[in-house]
Amino acid sequence: MKKKNLLIITTGGTIAMRYDEEFGIVQNDELVEYLLNFPQIRNVADIEVLEYANVPSPYIDPELMFGLAKLVNEKIIEYDGVIVTHGTDTLEETAYMLDLVVTTRKPVVLTAAMRSGTDLGLDGPRNIVGAVRVASDDDARNKGVLVVMNDEIDSARDVVKTDTGKTNSFISLSYGPLGIIDPDKVIFFRDSVIREKIPTDKLETNIDLIRCVSGMDSRYIESSISCGAKAIVLEAFGRGNVPRGIIPAIKKALDKDLIIVVVSRSYTGRVLPEYGYEGGGKSLQQMGVILGGDLRGHKMRIKLMVLFGRYNNPALVKKYLLHAND
Ligand code: ASP
Repeated sequence: MKKKNLLIITTGGTIAMRYDEEFGIVQNDELVEYLLNFPQIRNVADIEVLEYANVPSPYIDPELMFGLAKLVNEKIIEYDGVIVTHGTDTLEETAYMLDLVVTTRKPVVLTAAMRSGTDLGLDGPRNIVGAVRVASDDDARNKGVLVVMNDEIDSARDVVKTDTGKTNSFISLSYGPLGIIDPDKVIFFRDSVIREKIPTDKLETNIDLIRCVSGMDSRYIESSISCGAKAIVLEAFGRGNVPRGIIPAIKKALDKDLIIVVVSRSYTGRVLPEYGYEGGGKSLQQMGVILGGDLRGHKMRIKLMVLFGRYNNPALVKKYLLHAND
């Protein structure tokens, strides 16, 4: 296989950290040097490295994610593929933002580490080697943004961080990985058929995510309304049902033209208009609430930020959500 030209964009995270006796886990500025010394990387691709940020990923907010997406769109023209190193905590959100906004067919691969640079059995170098191998593989083209961790390849849309500490934390719970990275080759088993692109120059960050819990009342939704949210994602129970106590606030939000999208707080599966009781998915839909399919709440929030950034109009956003994939 011909050597590829790849760009690694670093953003920080545990993959760029080491343990310090006095301060605990801290930044490790030697990451770049460390990376390029690996023969497993040098033999596969010519690599350039660009630092976009050096922060723990809880500090990566949607604006930073969007800036990264713009950078990837700009830089991808010069390279055969781009790899982004990132903290694991918000990696799913960044990966999905890039999946929606980056328009290339070339491989764009995110990777991270659950263990820092001084930990035994550290996973960062292996994950970077895996990401380089995937980004160099022609089969990785036109697969949407990919996440490589623990010798597995997942789609940005599906993958979730399932465990706080294990190296096999990143899993596509509903549909399984797209492929694996074996010692001899990268193998894709399936394609991600649902692939959405929503190119936009702007982002609307005033979108809230509220999780339903039993017995909840209207306070959180009221607060979103008074803070001027453009849309609220409601993580509802099961198939998309909410407690009765929030119905008055949902009505109020809809009257003010806010978009309300219901997704499930269950780990897998779609929401559906099944139940007709007050607060059931069917009656919510009849009220004007949108049912958000199988997307998890934090990803639906990112999608709404991108959609409002692009259309800046609740009616068009609603139309997109209801009909774009008909
Ligand atoms: N707190 C770290 C981060 O997301 C965790 C990690 O990278 O694994 O930056």
